[in-house]
Formats: sequence, structure tokens, C-alpha cells
Amino acid sequence: MPDNGEIKILGAGISGLSAAINLVRNGYRVTAFERQPDCGRRFHGDLEGIENWTSKADALEELASMNIKVNFACHPFSSMWLSNGYEMLNFRFKRPLFYLVRRGDMEDSLDQGLKRQALELGVDIKFNSSTEEADIIATGPVPQRIAMVDRGIVFETGMDDFALALVNDAVAPRGYSYLVVSKGYGCMAVVLFDRLASANVCFAKARQVIGRLVDIDIKREKPFGGVGTFSLQSRLSKGKSIYAGEAAGFQDCVLGFGIRYAVTSGFLSARSIVDGDDYPALVKEKIEPLLMASGVARFLWERAGWGHYRCLLALTKRVKEPVNILHRACNFSPVHGMLFPLVRFMLNRRYKGLPM
Ligand SMILES: Cc1cc2nc3c(=O)[nH]c(=O)nc-3n(C[C@H](O)[C@H](O)[C@H](O)COP(=O)(O)OP(=O)(O)OC[C@H]3O[C@@H](n4cnc5c(N)ncnc54)[C@H](O)[C@@H]3O)c2cc1C
Repeated sequence: MPDNGEIKILGAGISGLSAAINLVRNGYRVTAFERQPDCGRRFHGDLEGIENWTSKADALEELASMNIKVNFACHPFSSMWLSNGYEMLNFRFKRPLFYLVRRGDMEDSLDQGLKRQALELGVDIKFNSSTEEADIIATGPVPQRIAMVDRGIVFETGMDDFALALVNDAVAPRGYSYLVVSKGYGCMAVVLFDRLASANVCFAKARQVIGRLVDIDIKREKPFGGVGTFSLQSRLSKGKSIYAGEAAGFQDCVLGFGIRYAVTSGFLSARSIVDGDDYPALVKEKIEPLLMASGVARFLWERAGWGHYRCLLALTKRVKEPVNILHRACNFSPVHGMLFPLVRFMLNRRYKGLPM
């Protein structure tokens, strides 16, 4: 690691900025190289969830413990509908199931919030630029390792705050669709983990099915889309550079949630520089178990053969606090450990050419 106190970070997204904030707080001079003209340009105003089920601690407390302040729009959701396209079930949770944030270059987005925090602390962000040599590589999805696709619209609406997840293989094969509305702003999309090229067709179907379930009010819609990388064989270093966020393959394999992984891996990469801790060892302790558990959960999700997910709904109906199911499914246990070798073998066959 550099001994002159100067750190170069490639990519000023969530993981890069999380690393930058934690390095500069410890006296390092940090330059982040961002190829876009501003932070958040990879996104187009879509609403994303900071999940609040993997840890016992609240997600926002965890962000605070990694020196990330909430200076962006962030709305807790404690109620959510689940549907298979036929039935709708409502769940209410004791604590927020997720916090909804906006992604993009608008002032209240997560990306711009992190940018402001980094700039205030003295991080030098060089826009429209890149570098050959970086200490931390935080460049987001890896084009050769795309395993999922999101496609949808954002819109203005007169609807009340609302969240619906739709699980139906005829609409989103091995994935899901969702509609979320927060403070007069909506986002509806499909997330596919299979037949990625059919994203537009699937979104049209999702729109129809969700439209039958809910009275949707859509004004001034704008399309958005994106891709994602996840991998059970994380890419941690190349030469003297270390990888953080999606560039390392950190993203959960079930739902494609990567925000917490990005912040955490940025924080850990900074810690490995500041304290001289071994980065692979930190990842093994804090990130790998979650990734492995999510791999097992994806495998079971795909194998269960729930068809139109009637069984899933029947099962969740009987559970008092369904977040406990999610928490257990997403945290590594001896059962996950037993299944993991088989899961890795099967996922490698399924995602041919991608390291699983
Ligand atoms: C449509 C969509 C919906 C999603 N929904 C959710 C959700 O609900 N919840 C959730 O937790 N996660 C969600 N995710 C995943 C989450 O957004 C990502 O996992 C997260 O943003 C990854 O952070 P990152 O720092 O690794 O990458 P990014 O945030 O993408 O940042 C990478 C940055 O590096 C820059 N860059 C790339 N290459 C270079 C280069 N060569 N030189 C300089 N700069 C470069 C990019 O321009 C970008 O600014 C979603 C993703 C998409 C696409």
C-alpha cells in the first residue's frame, strides 16, 4: 500500500465514495477518478431499497458505524404487498423492511449525498477521468460478468406510498417485478436472472399484471434500466489494487441488492489500508458468508418449482414475522454450509462462463 498517504480510487460510485470518506477521515489524501461528468450518472432516478433484513442492527445504524451520514432522501418502508399475480398479501413489519433511496445525479439521490460528504471532507473527485493505476478499483458491474438485468419506468403519481413485489415466472423468469411509490414518485420494474434479453417483453407483461392488481396512476413516465454482476468467486485484487463493490462481484444473488455490500466493502478496503488489515480476511469474515448464503437461497428459489409461487404465499401467510425467514435465508448457517458445494457446482453449470 502507498506509504506517501496518497490514495487513488477508480470509480466514484457508492463503494468508491465509501472508501474515500473513510480514508480521508484518517488523514489520507484521496483522489477518486470518475469517468462520468458527475456521480450517479449510471442511474436514471430509479428507487432502490437499502435492505434491512440481513443484520440484526438497523441498516442506517450500520451505515453510521461506517461513517456514512443520511444526507439524501431515504424513506423507511414497514409495509409491503407480495403477489404471485393472482393473490395479494400484505405484511407489516415491526421495523422498516427497507429504506427507499433514489439513484442518479439529482440532488436528493444517494449518489449525490455521498458525493457531498466526500467533497466536504476534502476528497478530490476528478470527473470525466480515469487512471491506469489505482489502489482501489470500484467501477461497478463488470461487462463480462453480467448476471442480471433490471428494466422499468419511473414516474410521477398521485398514489399514496406503496410497495409491491410480484413473483411469477411467466412475468420475470427466476426473478421478480416490483412497484414502489414514495412521496408522489413511483418506480416499476422487472429484475431478471434468466433470459436477460427478454427484459422489455417481461416489463410489458409485469406492467399488465401489476395494472390488474393495483390502480396505478402514472404521469410523465421515463424509462430506466441497468445490469448487475454477482459472483461467488469474488475478485479481490490485481497487482497492488484491491476491488470493492460490484467490481469485486459483491451483490446478493437472490434479489440483486448491492448497496450495503458496496458501502461495506468500501469501508473494509479503507480499513485494510488504514489499519494494515488483510483485505481478503476482512471480506471472508464480513462479506463472504452473506454472499454464500445468497447463492444457496438463489439455488433453492430456482429449484423449489413453486410455479406461480402459490406455495410461497401459503407459507408466508402462516408466519408471524416473515422478516425472520428472510433473515435466516440470507445469513450463513450450517445448513447453507452443507448445501454450498452442491450449490456452487449447479450455479456454475447454470451461469456458464461466469465465476460462481
Ligand atoms: C436498476 C438497478 C436497480 C437496483 N436496485 C437495487 C436495490 O433496490 N437495492 C440494492 O441494494 N441494490 C440495487 N441495485 C444494485 C446497486 O445499485 C449496486 O450494487 C451498487 O450501486 C454498486 O455500487 P458500486 O460502487 O459497486 O458501483 P456503482 O455505484 O455503479 O459505481 C461505479 C462507478 O464507477 C464509475 N466507473 C466505471 N468504470 C470506470 C472507469 N474505468 N474509470 C472511472 N470510473 C469508472 C461509474 O461511472 C460509476 O460511477 C440495483 C442496480 C440496478 C442497475
